[in-house]
Amino acid sequence: MHLSTPVTIFIDNKASIQASSNPKTRNPIAREIFTSLIQNAQIKLHWIKAHVGYFGNESAYQLAKAESEIHPSQIKYSKAFLKSFLFNNLIKEWQKHWDAVTAGRTVHNIIPKVSFQPVCWTREEIHFFTHHGPFPSYLHRFKIAPSSNCSCGQDGTPLHFATECPLTLSWHITKPSVGLHKLWFRRVASNSGSRTLIRKIVFHINCNQDQTS
Ligand SMILES: [Zn+2]
Repeated sequence: MHLSTPVTIFIDNKASIQASSNPKTRNPIAREIFTSLIQNAQIKLHWIKAHVGYFGNESAYQLAKAESEIHPSQIKYSKAFLKSFLFNNLIKEWQKHWDAVTAGRTVHNIIPKVSFQPVCWTREEIHFFTHHGPFPSYLHRFKIAPSSNCSCGQDGTPLHFATECPLTLSWHITKPSVGLHKLWFRRVASNSGSRTLIRKIVFHINCNQDQTS
């Protein structure tokens, strides 16, 4: 091998530099490198501390690592272990994402833990607990309703219809104290009697939209 352009090779392994600069080395690869270095004075070896922070070296390290990680012959663990390890990691990542995102916070309040278990809410319950339903407070955001107020004059939120609107009086649930709204939604979602009332309220609003907005 003969090169004319000056070349500097950055190496993070001190032992390999020492081996290839030792004329008495018994390692055939180190001996071959030593001969090449003697014949090509323009090649310089430069030792760097580990691979950290050196882009090219870091990429080579990552590639080597990835390659060894995915090679089937390198896998020492049982299928069952890997399955449970990957599943647990998936849940952990999913949970991290569910806790960090800003959307869907009303549902996060009720269902803080991720799971593959279906929640089984009816259409009316989904409308109510997500707040994405036939409520003036929601429809007004998309300019579907002229105002966010209910026809009774108060703010037409899901909580308003469930606790104080005269139009849904037959199915009211006790209003939460100030500062306990989140807890109230969690309790309603976990109580089958309250959920029955919620279904009736939302069904009523859907059937009488002209009167509620
Ligand atoms: Zn009202």
